[in-house]
Amino acid sequence: MNKYDILIIGGGPAGITLTKNIKNKRNIGIMRPEDHSMIYCAMPYVIEDLLPYEKTLKTDSIVTETGADLIRDLAVEIDFENKIVKTEKDDNYGYNDLIIATGADPILPPIKGVELDGVMTFKSEKDLKKILSIVNSGVENVSVVGAGAIGIELAQALNEKGINTNLIDMMPTVLPNMLDKDIAEEAEAELKELGINLNLDKRVVELKGDSSLESIVLDNQDEIESELVIFAVGMKANVDFLKDSSLEIAADGILVNEKMETNIEDVYAVGDCVQFESGITDEVISGKLATNAVAMGRVLAANLLGKKRKYQGFYNGAATKVGGLYVGGTGLTEKLAAEKYDIITAQAKFKTAFPIMPFAKDVKLKLIVNKADRKVLGGQIISGEPVTDKVDKITMAVQYGLDVDQLLDFNYSSQPYQSFYPAHNLLVKAAEEAVKKIDS
Ligand SMILES: Cc1cc2nc3c(=O)[nH]c(=O)nc-3n(C[C@H](O)[C@H](O)[C@H](O)COP(=O)(O)OP(=O)(O)OC[C@H]3O[C@@H](n4cnc5c(N)ncnc54)[C@H](O)[C@@H]3O)c2cc1C
Repeated sequence: MNKYDILIIGGGPAGITLTKNIKNKRNIGIMRPEDHSMIYCAMPYVIEDLLPYEKTLKTDSIVTETGADLIRDLAVEIDFENKIVKTEKDDNYGYNDLIIATGADPILPPIKGVELDGVMTFKSEKDLKKILSIVNSGVENVSVVGAGAIGIELAQALNEKGINTNLIDMMPTVLPNMLDKDIAEEAEAELKELGINLNLDKRVVELKGDSSLESIVLDNQDEIESELVIFAVGMKANVDFLKDSSLEIAADGILVNEKMETNIEDVYAVGDCVQFESGITDEVISGKLATNAVAMGRVLAANLLGKKRKYQGFYNGAATKVGGLYVGGTGLTEKLAAEKYDIITAQAKFKTAFPIMPFAKDVKLKLIVNKADRKVLGGQIISGEPVTDKVDKITMAVQYGLDVDQLLDFNYSSQPYQSFYPAHNLLVKAAEEAVKKIDS
């Protein structure tokens, strides 16, 4: 039996981050069943022919060049008492420290007809290959269920291929976990402009067809012709093989403390397979993002090398692209924040460059602020230029507990191509609006 000092189950961003950060300082084995680790985030762009498929495949050298052994196998059982992982290929691996980084898989809801051909989710290399082959076979009508970032990116990719594309969500607005209604409506207008058929505030109740999907029935009895439906309605932690063990698992994943320790000594968990809390409210929230998985991996890697770092919790800064617009959000939405705090919101609207520059585009930033302590709870941006840097600036304010008065003094930079005039900055302007509202 092979024994590792550290055995990692899972070859996604969380597991890869661990191997990269620990390198050959400890003897590591990393296990994953699939042929290739994927850059999941880039998969929609293969469908719309922006990227060749091969570009989404990570090379094995990402982990092997760190000195780790790559084990191509699936863990099927863990004997925590004797510290042994049993695999599908009938091998046993021993460990001193075990890290579970098994990620999460897309949810396929239990709707009548889900077993039909043409009903899919979207995560693996296999999923991508199947969608590419269906798209190339000349499919005419497709539906995407779930108007979160993955659903929106998928719908745009399919629409870009000239396929009649429907985007369905039971929530009344798109990107409901990222954007409030006022900003989401601008993204919706852009999707409609692209020619995507939006069906919001509607639930899929049945999938119809003989052996293959032919149509989708909504709760208002509308029937939408569709040969392919892709569900992007959320993710479920990949922990089924552990459910009869002594490992503590809650509804959204494995329970860990801020050092990523589970209830079992020498067993840790990181990434999408973990349930964790909001860094703002300390309440359990979902945070199944690569950015969170990587941050957890970094904290654990440092601790396994003797440091004493703590994971700060989910802030969920995220972004997507909708037609010609870039949108992003972080922290609490106005809707969520209002359930817990007495809040105000403040907006600033500028141009992405000096307005006299011919290419300057519109940009709007919204802050959500707690009236009691004047701290920033979240924010959203919609812009003609990429927004992740601005999202991250707001996350920094939220994560480090800055109040709007501190933002008034924020030292920013300015240049004709890249910002508004020196006289103003988007974040500072929104903070000024917030201070005015709170003090009035
Ligand atoms: C289409 C798509 C787009 C996305 N876009 C973004 C984005 O833009 N930004 C962002 O931050 N996040 C994005 N995400 C989410 C992001 O990909 C995940 O949060 C991230 O991959 C989680 O990393 P992880 O390592 O925890 O899990 P995963 O990446 O899911 O990796 C889990 C690994 O564990 C392996 N595994 C599972 N069970 C076992 C077992 N029993 N034995 C051995 N190995 C096992 C799996 O095979 C896999 O290798 C996107 C996801 C998808 C699907």
